[in-house]
Amino acid sequence: MAAKKARKAPAPVLEPAECLTCKGTGEVSRTVRVGRKQRSVGRQTGICLACLGSGETATD
Ligand SMILES: [Zn+2]
Repeated sequence: MAAKKARKAPAPVLEPAECLTCKGTGEVSRTVRVGRKQRSVGRQTGICLACLGSGETATD
């Protein structure tokens, strides 16, 4: 009985990679600066624009 060889290796399941920008959190914190001297007044958390908050790298 001859062993059948698979014609093609099954395609690897592509798991969504962790977004490098927000490290998978979906949010990024940015320093808020005001004034001519760009004084830092704190940090603001916003949605990660790289993954739009999903925390996963877009593969499209
Ligand atoms: Zn992200």
